[in-house]
Amino acid sequence: MPNSFSLVFLAALLLMCALRLWLAGRQIAHVIAHRAQVPSGFAGRIELVAHHKAADYTVARTRLGRIGLAVEVVLLLAFTFAGGLQALHDFWSVRVDGLLYGLLLIFSVLLISALVDLPLALYHQFVIEQRFGFNRMSLKLFVFDLLKQATLAVAIGAPVVLAVLWLMARMGSFWWLYVWLFWCAFNLLLLFIYPTWIAPLFNSFIALDDAPLKARIEALLARCGFASSGLFVMDGSRRSSHGNAYFTGFGKNKRIVFFDTLLGRLQPPEVEAVLAHELGHFRHRHVLRRIALLFAMSLAFLAVLGQLIDATWFYNGLGVETPNTVLGLILFVLAGPVFTFLLTPLLSLLSRRDEFEADRYAAENTSASNLITALVKLYEDNAATLTPDPLHSLFYDSHPPAALRIARVQAA
Ligand SMILES: [Zn+2]
Repeated sequence: MPNSFSLVFLAALLLMCALRLWLAGRQIAHVIAHRAQVPSGFAGRIELVAHHKAADYTVARTRLGRIGLAVEVVLLLAFTFAGGLQALHDFWSVRVDGLLYGLLLIFSVLLISALVDLPLALYHQFVIEQRFGFNRMSLKLFVFDLLKQATLAVAIGAPVVLAVLWLMARMGSFWWLYVWLFWCAFNLLLLFIYPTWIAPLFNSFIALDDAPLKARIEALLARCGFASSGLFVMDGSRRSSHGNAYFTGFGKNKRIVFFDTLLGRLQPPEVEAVLAHELGHFRHRHVLRRIALLFAMSLAFLAVLGQLIDATWFYNGLGVETPNTVLGLILFVLAGPVFTFLLTPLLSLLSRRDEFEADRYAAENTSASNLITALVKLYEDNAATLTPDPLHSLFYDSHPPAALRIARVQAA
């Protein structure tokens, strides 16, 4: 039955919704208000048509985000106060027990959430991305991807869930410490196997064979003191025309991956500048710091869960009358984001600081002007708005607004 924790949770949920809707409203209004004209810093570099497209794309996605929020909240309330999770427990607990009960309960919740999200994912890909010319996927490929993702989720997820449930049941009151260690090890393993085992299930990677570009990149790597075990081109164009480049792996096992869409659009010196930005993230240890931060945060969350798992008020307050560790874990994962949402601006701030640092590294090791023209092209190609609402950007954006980034690069 509802208790005072129910009220705390509802209040946090209301606060989150109000904040997200308010920020979305500000973003839409700000983008529309600046739609008529290309901002002065970009005049002559970005066409009015492209500026309009970026504004309309941003507004369309922000509107879809509001619908997504509504769906998310309804689902959360259905699982908790409306008794959805209790009903799933009642269903499975009379049929199976032990680890199998936990596994089926967790997968039921995941499956229901995925099915509820599916219409929005379809709408995003085949209506919004389609309308703005970004979608390259057929429905067949979408379904294929979905099946592959589901298979992977079961193949990798089931053993992980079983291991976590086993640790929770067997390791006494400090189970959360063991789960944390296991979780960290699993994530490191995933980072390690992702480029070579998982990514190739979805895309093809071929060695970069453009000799002049390769020579240029190798010179950059040597200049910056990096060793790489390979330069690859990924067929990102199979799914989307958005372009990107990334750098994965550890130690000597690093590989550099360019989306074919990026190479098709940027000149070699610009590709070099974009890659130098990625190298900057490594040189300044952003990647390691990010992993360390995520591990520290998961330790804190697990320690909190370690306290909540025996607290009856936590279950009752969220619509569950039959406390057990599996339900505790699920409730924590469902309800946690409502509280941790308030950390978003802090994480965004840290990320933007890293981006400035990586930009500076790229400008120092390649050329500021090539970095700027590359950034302008990428903003244009991805229809990223040049005029975000400052507060919305402060709260959410992992990358600084284009105008600020370029001003910093020019000043460096
Ligand atoms: Zn970056």
